[in-house]
Amino acid sequence: MTPKLSAFLRDSAPATPCLVLDLDRVEENYRRLKAAMPLARIYYAVKANPAAPVLDRLVGLGSCFDAASFEEVEACLEAGAAPESISYGNTVKKESAIRAAYGRGVRMFAFDSEPELRKLARSAPGSRVYCRILVGNDGAEWPLSRKFGCEVEMARELMVLAGELGLDPFGLSFHVGSQQVNTAAYEAAIAKVAMLFTDLRDAGVKVRMVNLGGGYPVRYRQEVPEIDDIGAAIMGAMAEHFGNALPDILVEPGRFIVGDAGVVSAEVVLVSRKAKDDPVRWVYLDIGRFGGLAETEGEAIKYAFRTPRDGEAEGPVTIAGPTCDSTDTLYEKSNYRMPLSLDAGDRVELLATGAYVTSYASQFFNGFKPLAEHYV
Ligand SMILES: *Cc1c(COP(=O)(O)O)cnc(C)c1O
Repeated sequence: MTPKLSAFLRDSAPATPCLVLDLDRVEENYRRLKAAMPLARIYYAVKANPAAPVLDRLVGLGSCFDAASFEEVEACLEAGAAPESISYGNTVKKESAIRAAYGRGVRMFAFDSEPELRKLARSAPGSRVYCRILVGNDGAEWPLSRKFGCEVEMARELMVLAGELGLDPFGLSFHVGSQQVNTAAYEAAIAKVAMLFTDLRDAGVKVRMVNLGGGYPVRYRQEVPEIDDIGAAIMGAMAEHFGNALPDILVEPGRFIVGDAGVVSAEVVLVSRKAKDDPVRWVYLDIGRFGGLAETEGEAIKYAFRTPRDGEAEGPVTIAGPTCDSTDTLYEKSNYRMPLSLDAGDRVELLATGAYVTSYASQFFNGFKPLAEHYV
């Protein structure tokens, strides 16, 4: 937790639950990533935290943006981003949204199928397009399975078709899954992309960009590789496969930019047991799965907690949210422990919750308001 976040929580004691996010840390993270991969252009993945103060700060730093919807395109433009700095990176777009983004000046789009490519040819003529290929997500704590990307052979055909349809077959992309703690995943993906890149070049397609996607991890309960080491592994793989004919390199960090800049302040609503002699206490908080902690599904992302009683004797806990839905249980199997003296009314903090929290919060499920946000 940054000194600014501690000071705000101490001095303002905002109503819980809320997210407090330190914009200076966002800037620091942007600069750290830039230093780790100086040759890469940074396209911030807006979905991680689309708040205007975050976008404003990143526009000021010269960041580019990866938008998942026309609404995110508009949010970037409103923050002052130039349309040329926006990539519409979702491979599943309504044609009306493509047309709207094109109308606002966006000229770079992702695709992973022929029907989507044809939509782009019709509604974003002449634009730069890049094809997303399927790669392994092993090592990602929040994997993306097979929802996005296509097999290499299909990507090859589609990139040729893109040119024939009057689009600019600009590049290739992949995404190794979010919270990726294994640099080998990037290395394997780069090897795969490089082969296709060379193939396409040989076929006369003027492909010239590789988009390495997101995935750069944040520290939760466990140590993660340093961004400098990840950057070195990635750039090493790029040099190995492309030699000194490096393509344009794009990265799309979301979690890494905002994750550890934010903290959720929450309140303990109830501490109880299911039987008098049950060693496990249930700790119910005023935030849960529907208050924004969607990434606790399957206990995938394991947030670290701080309580005012840390350092005292601890015991095992199951941690749950406040709604009357049984899936609103955050952690049952991940060996969480909390102080035995923890009690209703205590304020607790969930660390590194700046990414994928406010944007996942539900609207008034059980009457609870969407998560409050403070940018400091
Ligand atoms: C979500 C997403 C990202 C951001 O991923 P992080 O793991 O948060 O860095 C980047 N690119 C694409 C295409 C995405 O869908």
